[in-house]
Amino acid sequence: MTAKRFAMAVDTRRCVGCNACVISCKTENALPTGGFRDWVVQEVRGKFPDLSMEIRSERCNQCGAPSCVDACPTGASHVAEGGVVGVTRSKCTGCKACLAACPYGARWLHPEGFADKCTFCSHRVARGRQPACVETCPTRSLTFGDLADPDSAVAQLVARRRHHVVREEQGTRPNVFFLT
Ligand code: SF4
Ligand code: SF4
Ligand code: SF4
Repeated sequence: MTAKRFAMAVDTRRCVGCNACVISCKTENALPTGGFRDWVVQEVRGKFPDLSMEIRSERCNQCGAPSCVDACPTGASHVAEGGVVGVTRSKCTGCKACLAACPYGARWLHPEGFADKCTFCSHRVARGRQPACVETCPTRSLTFGDLADPDSAVAQLVARRRHHVVREEQGTRPNVFFLT
């Protein structure tokens, strides 16, 4: 059996920038004041008068070549099941090397002294549920699943729809795909 490769497709044509995904993540993961595992970006492209705007919900890209894991001196940052990048809190010294190494600003230091970031809600996925943001999004902009399974909804969307990843030139091989 092929190893699982968890991924997310974010449909930028559906996202209205309501921030429901940000609020549900904060609640689900009991994040402290000022700590966010996902955020909404509004990007204006083109030149006047030919302007277009993309709204997208971003989070850790669960990179296939994660620079944060390479940078971690203690092994706290690691690749877990389904290719999801995790942080073992007991091994984390709070040195911030991973914060500096992530090109996406996806990590931050929790007030309790460890690096924090999106886990694709691995605690929910282990129980057969969807990440909190996916379940909450009122426009169904977010699709989560196993990219290694060609029949999964996420694999179908990535195969069929035009898409991009953020800062591809960084070479980290993101697994969050923005459908356009
Ligand atoms: Fe690491 Fe940043 Fe990639 Fe997440 S987005 S896996 S924190 S390099
Ligand atoms: Fe590793 Fe923690 Fe340092 Fe990040 S802050 S590089 S996870 S020890
Ligand atoms: Fe966009 Fe959905 Fe997040 Fe609202 S909940 S900002 S529509 S991804």
